[in-house]
Amino acid sequence: MTNDNLAKKIKIFDTTLRDGEQSPGASMNAFEKLEIARQLAKLNVDIIEAGFAVSSNDDFEAVKKIAMEIKGPVICSLARLVKEDIDRAWEAVKYSNNPRIHVFIATSKIHIEKKLKMSNEKVISNIKDMVSYAKSLCNDIEFSAEDASRTDFDFMILALKTAIIAGASTINIPDTVGYAQPQEFGKRIKKIIKELKDLIDKKNITVSVHCHDDLGNAVANSLSGIKNGATQVEGCINGIGERAGNCAIEELIMNLETRKNYYNCCTEINLKEIFLTSKLVSEITGLNLSRNKAIVGRNAFSHEAGIHQHGMFADKNTYEIMNKESIGWIGESIVIGKHSGKHAIKEILTKSGYNITEPILNEINLKVKNLADLKKQITNESIIEMANNSIKN
Ligand code: MN
Repeated sequence: MTNDNLAKKIKIFDTTLRDGEQSPGASMNAFEKLEIARQLAKLNVDIIEAGFAVSSNDDFEAVKKIAMEIKGPVICSLARLVKEDIDRAWEAVKYSNNPRIHVFIATSKIHIEKKLKMSNEKVISNIKDMVSYAKSLCNDIEFSAEDASRTDFDFMILALKTAIIAGASTINIPDTVGYAQPQEFGKRIKKIIKELKDLIDKKNITVSVHCHDDLGNAVANSLSGIKNGATQVEGCINGIGERAGNCAIEELIMNLETRKNYYNCCTEINLKEIFLTSKLVSEITGLNLSRNKAIVGRNAFSHEAGIHQHGMFADKNTYEIMNKESIGWIGESIVIGKHSGKHAIKEILTKSGYNITEPILNEINLKVKNLADLKKQITNESIIEMANNSIKN
C-alpha cells in the first residue's frame, strides 16, 4: 500500500495464531503455525501474536520456533497478568529481534466480580506490579483491558493510565464480546485519547483496538476506532477467532486501501499476498470460506448477471471497486448461469479463438439458457462444446 507523508500509518497486529486458533475446531500444530507465520511475514504484518505460551507445551514451542525463525514483524505472546504466564511468554519470545509480551486483565464489573473475584483496587495493583515485572524482561509491552467496551469509563482510564506508567507502550481496547456499535466504540476511543493525551504524546503510546464479530460489527468497529485515532488494529485472516470471530484483517486493509481519501491512513501490507494468505489459513485450519465472503470469497469478483457482465466488458469500474489482481485473487470473474447474457458467451468463445456469427451465438445462447435451468453454473468447457456442435451442424 502506498505511503504518502500525510497518511497516518496503521499497524496491523495479526492474531490468527492466537485468537484465531481459539476458533472451535481450528487448533494447529507448531509446524502449521510456522507455515502461516512465514506467509504473514510475506504479507508484511507489523506484529504476529504467535500464541499463548503458557497454555501448552506445544504452543510454547510454536511461539519459540516462530520467534527464532521469522524476521521482520514483532513476535508476541499473550500472558495473563501473573508471573508464571509472563515468564513463559518471555522464555518463548526472547529469541526474536523484536519481542513483545501482551498482558491482559479484565476490567469490566461483571468480569472482575464473577470471573476474577477481585476488588477493583487489586486489579489496579496487579496491573502496576505485573506490567512493571514484564517491562523488566522485555522492552515492548502491550496491555489489554479485557471487556473494555463494557467497562466503566473512569475505571478503564485508571487501568490504562496505570499500565502506561508501569511501562506499557501499547494500550489495547478490546470489544471482547462483540457488543459495541461503531459510532459508540469510536466515541470511546476518541475520549480515551483525549483523556490520556499528555501521557500518549509524552511516551509515544500506540492505541490499539481488538473487536469481535458477535453482532457482525468487528470490521466496522475497528474502522471507527481508526477514524477516531487508533493506530493499531488486531484481527485475524478470514475473520476467524473465538465464537463469531475477530475483525477480518483482509477486509479492514481493503477498506483503508479502497477508501484511502476517506481514512487518510496507510499500512505496510503487501496487498498481493492477501489472497494466498487467506487460502493457506483456510486450508490449514479447515475453516472454509463462504462463497460470498468479502474480498477473498470465491464469488467476491465473479459476475453472473448479464447486465453486470455487459458493464464489465465495457469498463471494469462499472461493477468493481477493487482490482482483483492487486490482492492476488485467482478465480473466474465471468460465470455463466441463468442470469448471463450473450456478451459473456461471446467473450469466452472469442478468448478461446472462435469467431462466431450472430445466428450461431443466438443458438448457443438458447442452449445455455436451457441448460442453466437445470444446472446452477455452466463451465467454459461446456460452452466451447456447444459451439463445436453448433458449428458442425
Ligand atoms: Mn479476542
